[in-house]
Amino acid sequence: MALFPTFRLPPGLNRLTWRQLFLLCVLLTALMYFLRLRRPMTIRSVSRFRSGKGHDPSHRPTRTMWGAPMVWGDSEPAAHQRAEFAQRSFRVGLMVLAVGRYTHYLTRFLQTAEMYFLPGLPVNYYVLTDNPNRLVPAPELGEGRGLRVVPVAEMPGWERLARRRMNLWASTIDNQAQQEVDYIFCADVDQEFANLVGTEILGKLVATLHPQHYAQPAYTYPYERSPDSRACVLDEEGDYYYTSELYGGLCSEVLTLTKVCSQLILQDHALGIETRELEESYLNRYLIDKRPTCVLSPEYSWWESPVTPPVPQKRVISLGRRCASLKDQGKSSFNC
Ligand code: UDP
Ligand code: MN
Repeated sequence: MALFPTFRLPPGLNRLTWRQLFLLCVLLTALMYFLRLRRPMTIRSVSRFRSGKGHDPSHRPTRTMWGAPMVWGDSEPAAHQRAEFAQRSFRVGLMVLAVGRYTHYLTRFLQTAEMYFLPGLPVNYYVLTDNPNRLVPAPELGEGRGLRVVPVAEMPGWERLARRRMNLWASTIDNQAQQEVDYIFCADVDQEFANLVGTEILGKLVATLHPQHYAQPAYTYPYERSPDSRACVLDEEGDYYYTSELYGGLCSEVLTLTKVCSQLILQDHALGIETRELEESYLNRYLIDKRPTCVLSPEYSWWESPVTPPVPQKRVISLGRRCASLKDQGKSSFNC
């Protein structure tokens, strides 16, 4: 103590300082505990799903971390929403791009959509294609359902189209769809509908969980991490990883989303920046800034792969991504 004479405090003050120090420690410990709890919660809630309990409704989250519905088609909230929308009048658009060899997916996409996508309800299909003849004669559609063929002069190849698609979506909504429908969904054409997709999917801004990442901890999501890119996501950001195979919402919301993403894509391209997951990277960046009001479970975008956990119902299946993730043996059994 003789070495530090100035550190000697009067006995009363000394006791007070120790008490304060103790309180500070308790507070700090509580804070650290709270912060630790927040992040692993995402991991814990999804790891149950991963352990094969995905079929048990009690283990499926029905709300997102910010309180938006997470939609499982056979759940009580989904049935409730279907009942509610049965009283309303609305029209829905379903938009796909089919260029080059992808036009061969059109028949299956439209046929299965007629069976399962909002059956019996008013739907317009918007098909953006370089080969309108593929839709001559026009496929047979149910009552109240329409087909709008939008000719586009685009070169095939996803690397190029991934820079163009958001812009094509935006101009189709702007020029035509918003005058005709209330809600619009953007979809990959290399998909098929395999089970009921009803009005439970309707919402202001709707995104779908990526089936291969849903059950994984957030730090493994393939967000764009390059700080140079306009799609960059920081370590502490992001709730879920969404697929670009299916998203939608009110026309005004989807128009803003597609316009903003298209601008970011073009800005990056002008600087020679290409993101890890191309268009999907920008979609995920946007949905961090503007969280969806309705999140569809992986039932609405699913494909078999060694890392895809089971879902109660496979409602929309990605044929292309399934083929991409299968080994040679599996490929032949799915006609890849
Ligand atoms: N696409 C197309 N022609 C092409 C490449 C892509 O019409 O040459 C469209 C098509 O709708 C396809 C979507 O762009 O579903 C996305 O491409 P892909 O399915 O290959 O991408 P991924 O699902 O692997 O992200
Ligand atoms: Mn696809």
